[in-house]
Amino acid sequence: MGTHENPNKGSGRQDMHAAFTHDARPLPQPVQRLMELAYNLWFSWNADALKLFAQMDAAKWEQSGHNPVRLLLELDDSQLEALSTNGDFLSAYRQVMEQFDEYMNSSAWFQENHADRGYVKVAYFSAEFGFHESLPIYSGGLGILAGDHCKSASDLGIPLAGMGLLYKKGYFTQKIDISGTQQAELNQYDFAKLPIKQVFDNDQPLLISIDMPGRSISLQVWCAQVGRNVIYLLDADHDANQPADRELTAQLYGGNQDTRIAQEIILGIGGVKALRAVGYYPNVYHINEGHAAFLALERLKDLLQLGLPFHAAVETVRSATVFTTHTPVPAGHDTFTIGMVEHFLGPFFQELSRHKQDILSLGLDHRTGQFNMTHLALNTAGLRNGVSKLHGQVSREMFREFHGNIDAGEVPIDSITNGVHLQTWMAPQWQELLDRFLSGTWRQEQANRHQWQAVEVIPDESIWKVHAELKENMIRYVRHSLAEQRRRNGESQERIDEVRGYLNPKALTIGFARRFATYKRANLIFNDLYRLRKLINDTDRPVQLIFAGKAHPADYPGQELIREVYRVSQRKEFLGKIVILENYDIHMARYLVQGVDVWLNNPRRPMEASGTSGQKAAMNGVLNFSVLDGWWEEGYNGTNGWAIGSTGKAEWAAQEKENTEAIYRTLEQEIVPLYYNQGALPHQWIARMKRSIESLSPAYNTHRMVQDYTELTYLPTAQRARQFVSNGYEIAKQVADYKRFIRSNWYHVKIICIDDRSAKISSATPMNLEQPTMKDITADVMFGPIWHLDALVEVVYYEEIGDAWEQRVIPMEPLGASSGQKQRYRASIPSHLVHGPHFSVRVRPTSSNFVHAFELPLVTSTLNWK
Ligand SMILES: *Cc1c(COP(=O)(O)O)cnc(C)c1O
Repeated sequence: MGTHENPNKGSGRQDMHAAFTHDARPLPQPVQRLMELAYNLWFSWNADALKLFAQMDAAKWEQSGHNPVRLLLELDDSQLEALSTNGDFLSAYRQVMEQFDEYMNSSAWFQENHADRGYVKVAYFSAEFGFHESLPIYSGGLGILAGDHCKSASDLGIPLAGMGLLYKKGYFTQKIDISGTQQAELNQYDFAKLPIKQVFDNDQPLLISIDMPGRSISLQVWCAQVGRNVIYLLDADHDANQPADRELTAQLYGGNQDTRIAQEIILGIGGVKALRAVGYYPNVYHINEGHAAFLALERLKDLLQLGLPFHAAVETVRSATVFTTHTPVPAGHDTFTIGMVEHFLGPFFQELSRHKQDILSLGLDHRTGQFNMTHLALNTAGLRNGVSKLHGQVSREMFREFHGNIDAGEVPIDSITNGVHLQTWMAPQWQELLDRFLSGTWRQEQANRHQWQAVEVIPDESIWKVHAELKENMIRYVRHSLAEQRRRNGESQERIDEVRGYLNPKALTIGFARRFATYKRANLIFNDLYRLRKLINDTDRPVQLIFAGKAHPADYPGQELIREVYRVSQRKEFLGKIVILENYDIHMARYLVQGVDVWLNNPRRPMEASGTSGQKAAMNGVLNFSVLDGWWEEGYNGTNGWAIGSTGKAEWAAQEKENTEAIYRTLEQEIVPLYYNQGALPHQWIARMKRSIESLSPAYNTHRMVQDYTELTYLPTAQRARQFVSNGYEIAKQVADYKRFIRSNWYHVKIICIDDRSAKISSATPMNLEQPTMKDITADVMFGPIWHLDALVEVVYYEEIGDAWEQRVIPMEPLGASSGQKQRYRASIPSHLVHGPHFSVRVRPTSSNFVHAFELPLVTSTLNWK
């Protein structure tokens, strides 16, 4: 079983291995390695591997939920025997295994570009992972993103281990009854039949123990092999635990606040312990959303027990941590009362009672008095990012106060825009077409724009043929799914049969599928049903709509939206033209993002941090029709889809009105006419499809995204982490001491005098009319005991660029030697600023060991002068 025996090839402990919890089924020798294939989620993004499993027994493959492990365990012996002598099957099998071996053994982007960084080891923590429909441990976009991240990390050769939870009951299966009400059904998964294995230590299941109030909990460790990397999953459903504790990892986002905090403790604290137990020692910890932020506490504890002073321990943790935030509204961030945290972390604090207040303050939100997981993550991560340019900006504004009220543009939260895993989401038919027109290495080099220019030369016929085939497949799938739903709901045979005539393969088809969260406004297009009816029932140019999505079981307004969509879909004039499907998952998402003509997305701006389903649609030639929120604000170029509304700030009601009008107007005047402007082929539509594929695929894939994470965060973090711990944590201690000294003495820093009245034309000013005239100003700053070279003095002013004010920062130079504790500074600034208070001077601490300029939120500024 080659790659499975030791999940951490070369880095893990030798006695640690992943194994079956049951007797692995022996397969006939000629097809023996199918088990190995089934246990590597690589199969989920290799079309040939998926085809191979489907080919073994199409019905059982469907029944298994496309789970190859279950398929292999449930096939009859006679079937296996027959396959192992079937020449066609064997040659397909050999061809897949060859691809697999080549994949597992080849060197990739990381090895080729960062060969000298072999020491990098990333741990990626996330509450959910969406790899494939056969491993149901995700709820929506966040999980899919984590899954796609890990897949690309493997493709690119980045050494990464994932950490998550294994939910016995998954998220939930959604059923929609005949009144349109969502029924949330819990499943009970048999882990022995999922594409995961349990981790063993010397022939005993590895157990991680974590302390909870009054008892300890044993966690089993499972692992999913994702290409070359391993994702560890923790599971509290163990005999040794009390019945209630066994339920702690039962359900993703289930239970109450107590369950939530316990799950987050298991993930963060249990996760760090589990990595230690398997012998994986990361130098980069990536917190994917605040849920996982407790990981910092367990690492802190480790360092404190080594005898490191508290602040040096915090610096050490920060040096090795990256945090990605996904939530653009304050209410969306996980918070707990301090009392709850004290209670649940009681045993954790026992040995650390001295540091309890310091630790609690790492997560304290001073405005609300609550413990906020995002604050904990911000305080313990050196590098932080949002998930689109706009979301980065929104996050910087949201956390401005947290960083000492500096300008929002300077708040140290960057952005790395989300992407999707191309080979998972782009239909094999498209990939085959691209194989014929793009270079042989287009998949590896998918982030290179030039690769994609060749899309222009693909004949329109070929483009339309692929699209039409995918659309037909999708319609067949939709009809099947609706018929199943009606049969289950006990509807009449007539109602079941009727579904066969639903959806017209020639009609312009719009898809809307995502979680039913209210901010996503699934019912926006229903605001004027009269106008919608005209669009849908136009006999020459009909439009049809497909909806799907789950609402969280506690989200009643979200469930009300499902009911509303369902009711509209049952109105006589919309029957078979507006449909809503139940149980949206990865499998259904593939059909929809590959098969519709237009992907509609109309969230309340700016509440969609990024959104990714539109990216999946784009690479399949499906045109985005979206509010300029999240990724679309940067992806839309005027010709590769359509925008809904503007980028201005508007109140919700005004936005709703503007967006509604824009949806109908754009459909009526642009989208419908363009689609139906066809002779034999809709050439103008196809031209837009090509622009969508060509302009969006290279940017919004996870190869580009993970390369960005690697170069902007993982590499610098791993390097810093190594520096901070070397020589007995010398730098970590220095940074901590430095910060403490600066913090306690900063009150001495005063700007005592600015001389701008005598400002004269600076000798350095070029006599060029294009340049503003410059004038010198000086400022005197008192530092007290702080060394003046530990601070930067800057002039700050704002310049009007277009309709926005942009901040300008000019460093001031120290003039001569400091006299006593006073130092004079000089800068040249545009002369018009000198009149009146058009600029300010500020002083801030600096250090070459800072990760970012505003690491210490201490800024003394003349803005505060009265
Ligand atoms: C991609 C995906 C999502 C995320 O969709 P958004 O439009 O970005 O919210 C959610 N659920 C599933 C099943 C997906 O495949």
